[in-house]
Amino acid sequence: MLINMKLFKKVLIASRGEIAVRIIRSCKELGIKTVAVYSDVEKDSLHVKLADESVCIGPANPDHSYLNIPAILSTAEITDSDAIHPGYGFLSENYHFAEACITSGLTFIGPSPENIRLGGDKAKARQIMKRKGIPVVPGSDGPVATEEIAMKTARKIGFPIVIKASAGGGGRGMRIVREEKDLEQSFYLAQREALTAFGNSELYIEKYIPDARHIEVQIMADNKGNIIHLNERDCSIQRRHQKLIEESPSPFSTSEKFRKKIGDLSVKAARAIRYRNIGTVEFIVNHDSSIYFMEINTRIQVEHPVTEVVTGIDIVKEQIKLAAGFPLEYKQSQIKQSGHAIECRINAEDPERFIPSPGKINFLSIPGGPGVRVDTAIYTGYIIPPHYDSLIAKLIVHGKDRGEAIVRMRRSLDEFIIEGVRTTIPFYKKVLNHPDFIKGEFDTTFLEKMNSSSQNGLSLSLSKNSGKDK
Ligand code: ADP
Ligand code: ADP
Ligand code: MG
Repeated sequence: MLINMKLFKKVLIASRGEIAVRIIRSCKELGIKTVAVYSDVEKDSLHVKLADESVCIGPANPDHSYLNIPAILSTAEITDSDAIHPGYGFLSENYHFAEACITSGLTFIGPSPENIRLGGDKAKARQIMKRKGIPVVPGSDGPVATEEIAMKTARKIGFPIVIKASAGGGGRGMRIVREEKDLEQSFYLAQREALTAFGNSELYIEKYIPDARHIEVQIMADNKGNIIHLNERDCSIQRRHQKLIEESPSPFSTSEKFRKKIGDLSVKAARAIRYRNIGTVEFIVNHDSSIYFMEINTRIQVEHPVTEVVTGIDIVKEQIKLAAGFPLEYKQSQIKQSGHAIECRINAEDPERFIPSPGKINFLSIPGGPGVRVDTAIYTGYIIPPHYDSLIAKLIVHGKDRGEAIVRMRRSLDEFIIEGVRTTIPFYKKVLNHPDFIKGEFDTTFLEKMNSSSQNGLSLSLSKNSGKDK
């Protein structure tokens, strides 16, 4: 069977930045030619320089370039590509796009359109998981249509609650409601916001878990229904519900029993929706180790490298092979977990207020040495455009244990020199020295607590007058 199976000859990468570069790397190692697409302002981007071919698909505004389905599909046709990798963001979670690829005779490197549709319908996914016996955060059974039903649900589960947009993502479309009197207004505001941001006003309700940890599991499935997981990642260090630091294993999951339980649940969840290709099942874990399904992300994730370094598996390579119809190459028992990995997402932002800081990189020196990996698309002289996500590099370290990984991360952050724009590196230095982070005792409110204690003069100081951020 394997002999007849063919990998793609040419893959078009419908993305930009570090993830486009990351995908090109796996394609090259698999002997696959690559096509980069880019917008007017990105002709000097690294993904364009590294791909075998490149095509400009429109102006800087992503609506007219990286989100322009006809332009991307016709580029695939002109370049004779046989598959499209959507990366993350942009069209990666758009099931119409996945369907359009298939209709055009192209392989979409990702899950089925049906998987993607469900992943993007968070209220429905919750409902299905609940029916299949996967614990979900207490809340509404499916969408909540009116403010009256919202109130009834909230009274039943008790405040505080979160109102979430079914189509939400990227930490947006979420409102915490602490008291009954605020529910009505929050409901209408959330509805309006959801409609504006996602074109869909549907909402659902979950109990707000104040001491939550975000623990997620990487899954991998072939087209024959074999499903395995690649262990967990802890992504509890967040700001505005967006991940900043990720690690594997989770410092919270000290018992093998817990790790096995969350791993098994992720496979059960994937099986419940006949998942295929790679994806991530996200869970909320509370202080007493109760695990609740939160959502399924139907794409490669920003933080996939932490799993790669501890398991030794190239997830993008496996993703491409699975999309081509190859069977899973690993059994669950063959998945290793060696040492500890931590990733910091470095953004071109003011490190105190998290406001974007685009512009020219005058000088760049990237950390290296044992156990250090940097996934980035920036270089000296590169101009970070203001039109896209401010993520400019991912710094990933691997140590024999969490202690070594922390020391290695601090050393790498010190080595990382980016001049010309402000970056979040100073922020990460502060976190990596914070006693609660070092102890592994944190939840998703870590940042709020760190900020309030620093206002009280208790936290480690961050140099405020250093002029430039290393
Ligand atoms: P992940 O779940 O992979 O950690 P996040 O939730 O942090 O990703 O990312 C938020 C959303 O923004 C995701 O849908 C992701 O695909 C998207 N995104 C992140 N970075 C970029 C980028 N550089 N360009 C476009 N979209 C991005
Ligand atoms: P997105 O689709 O934007 O990724 P998620 O549903 O995955 O949204 O939630 C993003 C983050 O918001 C979580 O990682 C967590 O920090 C926080 N969060 C979500 N739901 C809850 C909840 N019920 N209680 C507490 N925090 C939550
Ligand atoms: Mg999420």
